[in-house]
Amino acid sequence: MHKTTVKTPQNTEAGTFTQRFRAKRLVANQLMANRLVITALTSLFLSFTVSAEVLPQQQLIPGGLALFDLGTAATRPKVDIKGQPVMTVATGNGTGQHWTAIVGIDLKSAPGKRTLTIDGQARTFSVTKHNYAEQHLTVQNKHVNPSQPALDRIGAESRAMKAVFTSFSSTASTQWQPMIWPITGPISSPFGLQRFFNGQRRNPHSGLDIAAATGTAIVAPAHGTVVQTGDYYFNGNTVLLDHGQGLISMFCHLSQIDVQPGDQLQAGDHIGLVGATGRATGPHLHWTISLNNARVNPMLFLDPQLLPEANHEETSQP
Ligand SMILES: [Zn+2]
Repeated sequence: MHKTTVKTPQNTEAGTFTQRFRAKRLVANQLMANRLVITALTSLFLSFTVSAEVLPQQQLIPGGLALFDLGTAATRPKVDIKGQPVMTVATGNGTGQHWTAIVGIDLKSAPGKRTLTIDGQARTFSVTKHNYAEQHLTVQNKHVNPSQPALDRIGAESRAMKAVFTSFSSTASTQWQPMIWPITGPISSPFGLQRFFNGQRRNPHSGLDIAAATGTAIVAPAHGTVVQTGDYYFNGNTVLLDHGQGLISMFCHLSQIDVQPGDQLQAGDHIGLVGATGRATGPHLHWTISLNNARVNPMLFLDPQLLPEANHEETSQP
């Protein structure tokens, strides 16, 4: 579960706190005692997850991430790419002064050189070609060649979602926290697949499909604010969760939405239920992650210790 090699002052405090709690246990009532245990365990968990080892994984391909070590600075460095602000997180021993920029590389973007700006200075990195697998699906014809009213609706929904993907909300915390799975289940369609619907090439698969029965509970993979919900033509019942600094999770095809815009969620909080609404061939959760308006592979954000071996194999296909 937790890494045992990381030792921080917070861990020590948590340990001491637990010992103090043990001494008090004789006199405290059980309800209060349980609450103290949860508090102690929570602070222990947080002190582990802020360690540098669990930053998102770099992958310099379309749909991947570029990480830049920005060194030590008293204030958060200002980083942009193509006019879009870039996420920066503090790492290290908890002093919050060593910065890393995390840049999303859009799945649909071409390989080649990228330039980002760090406090006014240009820095470049190279994105290499990646051959994602192909997937051929048969779906209802209305979802392949939508009517004009449907196209109008799709356009309006697309603009509403884009407004969220291009947003950049500030976060109180500067520390990165790796994500947990929103549901558990087999990966029924990995990120990045080149898709053909009824033989026609369409956009590549910009999220991760996790198969589960209709009604399976979906939880927030990380803390965030619900910024948009709706019943969309392709995505069905959808929830957009803003994790801060341009990092957005989108959950699609829900049978039931149990949150509303403005709700503040912590990792593990309930969002809704798995379904097959919108363009779906069966019940599953489609999970998109967007960073600086780039659709990127959700697997790169998951806590490596929570990645099952089978799921690794699914995404390592050519
Ligand atoms: Zn999907």
